Amino acid sequence: MSIAGELLVACPGCGRRRKVTLVQSINTLADPEAKQRLVAGELNLLACSCGRTTQLAANLLFHDPVADYYARVCPGDARALADAVAVFRASGAMGRQRLVPSQNALVEKVKLLDADLEDWVIELVKVVLLSTLGDLERVLLFDHVARVDHEPGGTLHWLLFDAEGRAPRALASPLEGYTRLAATARPPAPSELQIDRAWAVTAAQALLAAGN
Ligand SMILES: [Zn+2]
Repeated sequence: MSIAGELLVACPGCGRRRKVTLVQSINTLADPEAKQRLVAGELNLLACSCGRTTQLAANLLFHDPVADYYARVCPGDARALADAVAVFRASGAMGRQRLVPSQNALVEKVKLLDADLEDWVIELVKVVLLSTLGDLERVLLFDHVARVDHEPGGTLHWLLFDAEGRAPRALASPLEGYTRLAATARPPAPSELQIDRAWAVTAAQALLAAGN
């Protein structure tokens, strides 16, 4: 069952206070519908009658028991993140664990899980793609993968945002780049919970140093 609470939130558009249901925990087996809403970008939204839609920043735990996968959205500062790490350790959860800063980042992780792709390889592919663009600060999000049955080929489909983080446009890259990095790069240790751009830049530097 997904754990949800009700609270009053002021709309940043008009200031009116609205009652919203905040989902704070999703178990994909018990509540597949909540997962669908998450991936569709419909979860934890404040949709006000003034027309403004606001994504609420919530601590959200995502658990896929079949994949033995846990991911926690932890909005906030370094202190909040450190607390979340402690909670993870204390929970005794043994599966793969991730900490992400936003619900959007969680959606990407869930899409990767469903596509049977490793997030750490994907983050490395992003660094390679963004290096060719000459801008490692850009937001680049995995969208979907198109595989060809019984063939090694395939295509990764991305959304590349502009320098202001807006106006996403579609980008495609060969799946082969993913396969090559998966075979050569070192996977993160189980204790590494934040697999993001910063992790990938460090990992890519290690990979380059090892190749020289
Ligand atoms: Zn409003």
